[in-house]
This record gives sequence, structure tokens and C-alpha cells, in this order.
Amino acid sequence: PHCQGEIHWCQAWSEPNAGSDLASLTTRAVEDGDDYVLNGQKIWSTGAHRTDWAFTLARTNPEERRHRGLSYFLLNLRTPGVTIRPVPDMAGDLIFNEIFLDDVRIPKRNMVGEKDRGWYITLDTMNFERSAAGVLAAARRAVERLVQFAKETKVDGKSLWQNPFVRHRLAQLFIEAEVGRAMCYRVAWMQSKGEITAHQASATKVYGSELGQRIAYTGCQITGLYGQVKSGSKWAPLMGKFEKSYRTCVGMNIAGGTSEIMRNII
Ligand SMILES: Cc1cc2nc3c(=O)[nH]c(=O)nc-3n(C[C@H](O)[C@H](O)[C@H](O)COP(=O)(O)OP(=O)(O)OC[C@H]3O[C@@H](n4cnc5c(N)ncnc54)[C@H](O)[C@@H]3O)c2cc1C
Repeated sequence: PHCQGEIHWCQAWSEPNAGSDLASLTTRAVEDGDDYVLNGQKIWSTGAHRTDWAFTLARTNPEERRHRGLSYFLLNLRTPGVTIRPVPDMAGDLIFNEIFLDDVRIPKRNMVGEKDRGWYITLDTMNFERSAAGVLAAARRAVERLVQFAKETKVDGKSLWQNPFVRHRLAQLFIEAEVGRAMCYRVAWMQSKGEITAHQASATKVYGSELGQRIAYTGCQITGLYGQVKSGSKWAPLMGKFEKSYRTCVGMNIAGGTSEIMRNII
């Protein structure tokens, strides 16, 4: 069901006062019979309003040092006590959510790995996200679309494709997308061998998100003033793709760990 997309997952790590310093999270999970009972609040959970399950992290041992004493749970978002409230982003889109947990019972079998050792599994999960394969696949596709646009578009009677500035910018982005692709393959290869990819995945995450910004910026330059028209309008080139990615690329330097934190890890 997971591979066929019948069950959707989101990640519920961040809290109002625990983002980069995730180990300071305060959501508690207390053992009670065959269950753990969770109380706390998560925030920024992408897509939680459209998903069925969440990966989450909660403190099971308040006596232990920060990274210890945290456990990893699979949380069914339909469980009584879970309240999901969407938070509009700066573009007005509904992507983010707050998740409130009030006496939410999770069966013990839904704990992944050992009790109090969830931090290390969380890092592994994050390294899959940070390998940024989706971001870099999208980068290549975006460059291809810009190439196509330049070939099909004339400005002042001249093809954009003949403009040396446009050609060099696109050539540079093509090179960078290929570099990112090679970085992704390396991380995937290491992960396939069960190796730890902390700094390699972090490097790919920084590179992919910053390349996404360069592509969005160049996309807006090449599509010109009409490039600022939103999708849905007949005037929006490439269905408003670069108008949208210009707005959303800001968050990609924050999602999954900020660029500053990635550089700290590297
Ligand atoms: C598009 C998007 C999607 C997201 N999706 C999810 C999701 O699905 N699930 C989820 O749990 N969370 C999600 N998040 C939240 C994201 O993980 C956090 O926003 C991120 O970890 C940063 O935490 P914070 O916002 O609390 O910022 P803070 O940790 O408060 O950081 C503020 C600033 O200080 C800098 N900073 C902090 N500590 C250091 C340090 N030690 N060294 C250098 N600089 C530092 C940061 O880089 C940042 O610039 C998402 C965020 C975005 C933008």
C-alpha cells in the first residue's frame, strides 16, 4: 500500500520551540499498559492534513541527557486526541500544519527500534530526506524546460536561444544539475550499502536547495515580466512554474534542516 501511494506519510519532528535544536523537544510519551500516551505539539508538518500516518519523536525518559531519552513512533493521524490545524504559508498555500496531541494512545508495537534510542533512527530518516533526490530531479527538469522555452521564444524578433547570456546561464545550470545528480547517486549508493551518510546527505541537501534558488531566479529572469504571472492565467509562461518556485525555494533552505545546520554537520 505504501509503494502504491494508498497510504501517505508525513514527518512530525519540529515543535514550536524545537527546530534546529530538535533534541530540546518537549512532547512526552508515557507508558501505560500496552500503549504510550503522547501529549504535546508539533508544527510545520508538511502535508499532515492530507496524510494518514506520521513519523514522530517524543521524550520517553526525562531523566536522560537530551538526545538520549527520545523514542521514535509511527503515529496514526486518525487516533483520538490528534488535532491537525493547517498553517497558511507566505504564498497563502496550505502545506504546513500544527499537530496537537492530547492523550493520544500509540500501541507499543508502533515504537520503532529501542525505547530512548529514537534519535539515531530519526537522523537516518532525515538523511533520506536530505539526500534531496526529488529536489535534484526537479532541478534537471526545470533546466530542460527553460532550454525548451528559450528555443521557442523570441524577444525583439530574436530567438532567446541565440542570446549568449541566456545560453551561458543555462549551460551553467545544466552543469550544476549534473553535479547534484552525481551527489545524489553517491548518497543512494552509500545508503544501499547501509553506510552512514550524514555529511554526504547534508552536502547534497545544501547543494540541491541552493541550486533550486539559482534556477528559480534564472527562470524568472529568462521568462521576463510575464514570468511573474501566476499559474492559471493564459499569460503565465510555463504555467507559472518559476513564479511559484521563486516563492517556495526560500523554504527549501530551511526544510529538513537549515543550510547553516547542514554546514555545521559537514
Ligand atoms: C518548507 C518547509 C517544510 C517543512 N516541513 C517540515 C515537516 O514536514 N516536518 C517537520 O517536523 N518540520 C518541517 N519543517 C520545519 C523545519 O525542519 C524547521 O523549520 C527547521 O529545522 C528550522 O527550525 P526553526 O524553524 O525552529 O528555526 P531555528 O532552529 O529557530 O533557526 C533559526 C535560524 O537560526 C539558525 N541556527 C539555529 N541554530 C544554529 C546553529 N547551531 N548554528 C548556526 N545557525 C543556527 C538557523 O539556521 C536559522 O537560520 C519545514 C520547514 C519548511 C520551511
